[in-house]
Amino acid sequence: MSADCIFCKIAAGTIPSKMLYEDEDVIVFHDIRPLAKTHFLIVPKAHIETLKDCTVAHQSLLGKMMLLAAKLAAEQGLVGYKTMMNVGREGGQEVFHIHLHVFGGGAVA
Ligand code: 5GP
Ligand code: ZN
Repeated sequence: MSADCIFCKIAAGTIPSKMLYEDEDVIVFHDIRPLAKTHFLIVPKAHIETLKDCTVAHQSLLGKMMLLAAKLAAEQGLVGYKTMMNVGREGGQEVFHIHLHVFGGGAVA
């Protein structure tokens, strides 16, 4: 938990979100500014700033996030979907708590 991290606050329930899924390791909620008809974020509860900080110790967590993307995309009725993880400021990352974007259903106009 990082005191000034927006995704830690969402995980702690102190900032509201449109929650899709939660377990002991991750939370999943809809993006506040969706770029597709369906756009949700898979977020570990642990505060990890960027994918570059991950080690082999995070291997199963990262795999779990990918498999969860497939499961939740299917539950949302998506036949196909895209995943994205922005890494570092130069990679387009704005929130420095790792998250996997899942997009489906076409771009929002
Ligand atoms: P990044 O550019 O870091 O990969 O993406 C951060 C994403 O988090 C953006 O798509 C942005 O819309 C989303 N986001 C930022 N703040 C909030 C928030 O308070 N609630 C939700 N649900 N999404 C947020
Ligand atoms: Zn955090």
